[in-house]
Amino acid sequence: KDSKLDQIIKTIEENDIKFLKLELRDIHGLPKSMAVPLKKADDVEDIVNDGLLFDGSSIAGLASINDSDLLAKPDINTFSTIPWRPESKGTSRFICDIYTTDGKPYDGDPRGVLKKSLKLAEKKGYEFNMGPEPEFFIIKKDENGNYMPADEADYFDVEPLDQGTDIRREIVFGLEELGFDVEVSHHEVAEGQHEVDFKYADALKTADAVITFKEAVKAVVHNLGFKATFMPKPFIGINGSGMHCNQSLFKDGKNIFYDPDTENQISQEALYFIGGLLKHAPALSSILSPTVNSYKRLVPGYEAPCYIAYGFKNRSTLLRIPASRGLGTRIECRSADPSCNPYLAFAVLLEAGLDGMNNKIDPGEPTEENLFAYTEEEIVEKGISSLPTSLWEAYHALEEDDVVKNALGEKVFNQFYNIKRAEWDAYRIQVFDFERDEYLNV
Ligand code: ADP
Ligand code: MG
Ligand code: MG
Ligand code: MG
Ligand code: MG
Repeated sequence: KDSKLDQIIKTIEENDIKFLKLELRDIHGLPKSMAVPLKKADDVEDIVNDGLLFDGSSIAGLASINDSDLLAKPDINTFSTIPWRPESKGTSRFICDIYTTDGKPYDGDPRGVLKKSLKLAEKKGYEFNMGPEPEFFIIKKDENGNYMPADEADYFDVEPLDQGTDIRREIVFGLEELGFDVEVSHHEVAEGQHEVDFKYADALKTADAVITFKEAVKAVVHNLGFKATFMPKPFIGINGSGMHCNQSLFKDGKNIFYDPDTENQISQEALYFIGGLLKHAPALSSILSPTVNSYKRLVPGYEAPCYIAYGFKNRSTLLRIPASRGLGTRIECRSADPSCNPYLAFAVLLEAGLDGMNNKIDPGEPTEENLFAYTEEEIVEKGISSLPTSLWEAYHALEEDDVVKNALGEKVFNQFYNIKRAEWDAYRIQVFDFERDEYLNV
């Protein structure tokens, strides 16, 4: 540990770092931070050892007014220098764990929720790996001040149609400076939409990375005069932004979802894991698709799933097992979107999957047809259920699901549930243009 700290002190000295940001996450997964000025490089030592007291009551979902004094303690493994801050007198950051003032891990900390779930897996010798595919739009304002996509390009288009090439280039350089292993970047299906994929890692590292990724993309795009949004469905009639979650369990360096001796080279454990994900899918929705807007993405016809089913090459199902085998064997959950809190999302995915393994939940037969080609009646005849179609349905499903609730813990469940109910209540009293267009003459 000491040598790691020594290295950090050295980096701070050599790079003229003057600010140390201590980052927290609110219940939505948004980064919050306080910046400590460094008078000398080894000031960092006290901050790492003692942490910093803060008032948590104004951070969404974190603490209540009468119980708000909390301690932010840097996780020494998360040190990095922020490339979009000035190079001279620069800024570094730590991601922090949150503790109560008497030194116990705070049960309202989303990062703590994931750490607790990962311990369950660790007890069985499992490492939970996660590879996310966050999509986003680059948007600009039109002459009336309304946001619109910044280009008109399509999937895999190239410049000059794709106006994002140079922006993605800067994003990738920024991410690489932050230690990301970027695998591929490309224009996505919708106008102004992009994807940058980075290599999977253990779920805690990946959850940290998702937040950093979103910060980096927003900062770089902002500095180039545009705006980046991870809103799931910013525009009607074109694809929304998902964040597919690719999952696998490793044991002793081997991927336990892979089994070369079965017909599909998928292990029985993987099938049970899928069984758990399918069983808990309605409640999972509240965490994976946590906004009113999320459900406008989960409609037929846009490569986003609507039905609780799994398949192999099928992109119309909730879960897909991509073709890659060996270490790359994985289960892709396609409903998740980048408005989710990745700590909570990865925790509930893991615990739902483990529930499937513990209780040997049979996922049934895979679905290989394109489900979007069927009517709702035909889907019902096949015995396939629908994902929740609104945030209201999803948070009620959460209320009914003890496995998913337990994964969140009582504190986070209560905070999350109350916040989502308030969000829904604020939404349902709105009156939209659509309604006036439709009903003014009734
Ligand atoms: P898609 O075909 O769905 O567009 P991508 O190639 O864009 O897939 O993204 C695949 C993601 O899956 C990457 O983040 C990759 O690192 C990740 N991945 C690969 N192998 C594993 C694994 N064993 N466990 C978890 N994630 C993995
Ligand atoms: Mg103050
Ligand atoms: Mg992809
Ligand atoms: Mg994509
Ligand atoms: Mg995908």
